[in-house]
Amino acid sequence: MALLLIRNNKDYQPWIKALQKADPEIELVTPETAKDKSAVTMAVTWKAPNGSFEGYPNLKVIGSMGAGVDHLFNDPSLPKDVTLTRVVDEELASDMQEFVLTLCLNHIKNLPLYRSLQDQSQWKPTQYKRVPDVQIGILGFGTLGQAVGKTLQQTGFQVSGWSHSRKDVEGITSYKHDELDEFLAQAEILVCLLPLTEDTEGILNTALFEKLPKRAYLINVARGGHLVDEDLIAALDSGKLSGAALDVFHTEPLPEDHKFWNRKDILITPHVASMSNAASVAPQIAENYRRMEKGEELKNTVSQDKGY
Ligand code: NDP
Repeated sequence: MALLLIRNNKDYQPWIKALQKADPEIELVTPETAKDKSAVTMAVTWKAPNGSFEGYPNLKVIGSMGAGVDHLFNDPSLPKDVTLTRVVDEELASDMQEFVLTLCLNHIKNLPLYRSLQDQSQWKPTQYKRVPDVQIGILGFGTLGQAVGKTLQQTGFQVSGWSHSRKDVEGITSYKHDELDEFLAQAEILVCLLPLTEDTEGILNTALFEKLPKRAYLINVARGGHLVDEDLIAALDSGKLSGAALDVFHTEPLPEDHKFWNRKDILITPHVASMSNAASVAPQIAENYRRMEKGEELKNTVSQDKGY
């Protein structure tokens, strides 16, 4: 029995080291070293090239090395009869909490404006917002959305979340799927933390922006596919939105000629909100491998039907 690692950048060493530390008895292979493909029973991956899972007759589990699983579903040849898993990790959550809090404070205290005025040696005090006066809405109120929501709420923001089903989180108003309009109407800062699925692709579009309060601010830390790029540009040009912070893009790295680069009202970060750390994540991968071997229920499974 062996655990197959597949990474698009072929950077295996930190993962091999961390997995060996988590459980030295697990045999680890990569597509390059897997001599006997029938020995592979589980694979963990980050953005495996399409078709990577073909030819492993005893593959039972495919795990994402990160929280997102859209990269798995991008592969039309993803086996239907395997169990899918993903990462749920405290470090991943706390990194996301810190990142989104930073972006919210950066926005309400006008720091990007002052950075750009500095280029022109301009001294121009501008009215800032106070934390308790700002309402933040989190689209996708799941593991990361709730973690971020709690941090924002503890900082003093007014927070609400939107998800398929209503959640019970103290101090935060939770809206369910059919209450989207009500949720959007009060989101002065909108944070997208949805998984990318058929239902959520392109959700950040003109129709949605129209339902936000005037001069709302958008933070997208989920996936580039959630955003209709031209609709964001139009909403910024019309003044409907006051700005955006984008960490994720349709094409990454963001192409050099993309319109977003030259906008002062868009803050671009290179998909760094929260990154899986092999040392932190390896123990849960090793645990799921052992559970699979013993026929036990796996942790952090993903629904093939829902796509998340
Ligand atoms: P979860 O699966 O825990 O949460 C997803 C949430 O979205 C759930 O609350 C779910 O509702 C809700 N949801 C899904 N589809 C819909 C829909 N159609 N309508 C309404 N609500 C919906 O995911 P995580 O919180 O762990 O991760 C979220 C995403 O964050 C990842 O998929 C990934 O793309 C992104 N991410 C980005 C990173 C970065 O560095 N930029 C790092 C890590 C993750 P319900 O619970 O009711 O089903």
